[in-house]
Amino acid sequence: MGLLIYLDGRLVPEEEAKVSVFDHGLLYGDGVFEGIRLYSGRIFRLEQHLDRLYESAASIRLVIPLSREEFRRAIIDTVRANGLEDGYIRPVVTRGVGDLGLDPTHCPRPTVFIIASRIQLYPESLYEQGLRIGTVSTRKNAPDSLNSRIKSLNYLNNILAKLEANEAGYAEALMLNHQGLVAECAADNIFAVRRGEVLTPPTYAGALAGITRQVVLELAPALGYPARETLLTLHELYTADEVFMTGTAAEIVPVVAIDGRIIGSGQPGPITRHLRREFVELTRKEGTPVYSSC
Ligand code: PMP
Repeated sequence: MGLLIYLDGRLVPEEEAKVSVFDHGLLYGDGVFEGIRLYSGRIFRLEQHLDRLYESAASIRLVIPLSREEFRRAIIDTVRANGLEDGYIRPVVTRGVGDLGLDPTHCPRPTVFIIASRIQLYPESLYEQGLRIGTVSTRKNAPDSLNSRIKSLNYLNNILAKLEANEAGYAEALMLNHQGLVAECAADNIFAVRRGEVLTPPTYAGALAGITRQVVLELAPALGYPARETLLTLHELYTADEVFMTGTAAEIVPVVAIDGRIIGSGQPGPITRHLRREFVELTRKEGTPVYSSC
């Protein structure tokens, strides 16, 4: 059976969930989105995802035509309508239908849709073996051109990086910023563990304020590993004891080689494993219930 999609206030069968070819989300990547996980009937960190969605929209002067409460409701209703227990939720807000010019003031009404679907989980072997990733030549957009904190529909920067990584045979693309400092991966944040400390680049270095990243920054100190944001060069990653990536879909994934340099022992490290175990535990305990609220 097909999915029911939330589209501009209605739940419609996926075959009918269509947007116009004049939608500026399609024509220009003008819009914002989120990627959220549903674990055992509970939406993980829903409030933080809503915060980021509304902040992304505010930053590009896009007024979301739903109150936060209405948006929360729409997400819950979409999950319920599809009877999902575990899955992935993709809320999208575009600038809406306009003319062929760039000018967003010619788009009177933003388009809102929400897809809630099952998720293809990564194989356990990926977490057991770790990934080999590589640096790509595509740099992150400079923050004074397009700030990395905006989770916009314009993902070409990241897609170009992904293409390069694929071509070179790497599982993920490690991206540097315009100054040559480590920013993040094409679709995940990056962390290094050095001398027991858990380190990640600040968002101003070109990273998305990842929700999973934030969970790790909170979880690590609670487990006895000091954690902080700091500027990182490739050297610090190459010589780290452990490296891992974080993201809503991937959760916490060990990285065992970067640009052919073996990280630590070449196996997923103990702190990475510990963080992952605790993260999985958290996803079992936390979250906004979908079926028990009225
Ligand atoms: N960076 C980029 C560019 C991303 O697309 C994502 C996935 N949303 C992340 C980092 C990880 O963020 P989160 O933990 O919120 O999924």
